[in-house]
Amino acid sequence: CAVFGVFAPGEDVARLTCFGLQALQHRGQESAGIAVGDGETVMVYKDLGLVTQVFNENALSALRGNVAVGHCRYATAGGGGWECSQPHISAIDDVLIALAHNGTLVNTGAVRARLVGDGVDLRSNTDSEVAAKVIGQETKRTHHLRDGIRSMMQILEGAYAMVVATPVSLYAFRDPNGIRPLCIGKLANGGWVVASETCGLDIVGAEYVRDVEPGEIVRFSADGMHSEQGVPAGKRASCIFEYVYFARPDSVLDGQGVYQSRRDMGRILAQEAPVDADLVMGVPDSGLPAASGYAAESGIPYADGIVKNRYVGRSFIQPTQAMRQNAIRIKLNPLPSVIAGKRLIVIDDSIVRGNTSKKLVAMLKEAGAAEVHLRIVSPEVMWPCFYGIDTDTQDQLIAANMTNEQMCEFIGCDSLAFISLQGLHSAIHANHPGFCDACFSGDYVTDIPAPLQEKGFF
Ligand code: SF4
Ligand code: MG
Repeated sequence: CAVFGVFAPGEDVARLTCFGLQALQHRGQESAGIAVGDGETVMVYKDLGLVTQVFNENALSALRGNVAVGHCRYATAGGGGWECSQPHISAIDDVLIALAHNGTLVNTGAVRARLVGDGVDLRSNTDSEVAAKVIGQETKRTHHLRDGIRSMMQILEGAYAMVVATPVSLYAFRDPNGIRPLCIGKLANGGWVVASETCGLDIVGAEYVRDVEPGEIVRFSADGMHSEQGVPAGKRASCIFEYVYFARPDSVLDGQGVYQSRRDMGRILAQEAPVDADLVMGVPDSGLPAASGYAAESGIPYADGIVKNRYVGRSFIQPTQAMRQNAIRIKLNPLPSVIAGKRLIVIDDSIVRGNTSKKLVAMLKEAGAAEVHLRIVSPEVMWPCFYGIDTDTQDQLIAANMTNEQMCEFIGCDSLAFISLQGLHSAIHANHPGFCDACFSGDYVTDIPAPLQEKGFF
């Protein structure tokens, strides 16, 4: 998912949020929503669909205020209905707050049961709504939103980058392991912006200030920016898959540029898995920077051999397998004039179920490719993600169930190689405080409760 927040009295905060969400659309395509605080109350407008489908001029101009939060949804927990869209509203006596969440919480089961027992009205089956209601309950008990948020951070575990709008202020906070990204920017007129990625700051002309720290709660109000530690920071575990696939290449996460990281993944893969061929191509869009890195390192010419329909969104983010399969054909078309008779090195970001690669290789061979050597700039995905990326259950993960030869045969390629985990880490070379790489290593930073483990077929 994408989250965005702005505190900027005197500005059109809903419009800024709409721009921010458009820049972050790649993080979720299922629903979009904006909540605005106007000094008295909080209003929310949300619906299923892309940002530009949900928000027109009328909807935006009805949302007036000094503070706003926004969300684009990529479902990992809960269903697909309107009730699951965000921001979620929670009432603290007669004051409303709105919460937007990126990530997935791992221990909401017991907490949900307790809320229901307390008579709290839950409209959806999402983890995010549970978080909104816990903050509401805990704020009633502690009489301050800051303490309610702190209490939620003690109760709920997993991955969360969250923003909350109140009638008069904006809060931003991040789980103690810093799994999902969240950064802070400043507007020229003194307003503040928070976004999942820096590309969300760029689009509204905000200057990057810093990232929200793991476990930190930041409050933006008429008094400026105030920071405190909500819960102690734990072992740092920023999602390494953000760099491989999820984030936009023009974003900088924790001080590290995504584009440069992807290029370096390609360079390292060229060293680790060289092969004799005529052309290097990337699978648009996420494979392109790595392909240019592979080409530069190997000395084999780079070519644009696959054209992507730019009006089709991300295929993986589609919620069902049937939609994903269909999306690949609609999205990608090979260029026979470039590839016919050629031995190709084809670079993609990841293989999860293997469907994308299988269809792609068939398309390339049909278009006349003499050989297709697949090179993947992430290691084999062997474990499910419980922290906000839908990498599916272990029985669906091709690399968890097949040898390299079996995968090659299933996909129909002439050779297949993945970057090593160490190679991936070294491509992201800044002095990074630490990554989650559990989908490759099985090394999870939190406990995974038994019901989720069952879902993941451990
Ligand atoms: Fe990211 Fe993989 Fe960790 Fe999930 S398991 S947070 S996708 S690195
Ligand atoms: Mg792809």
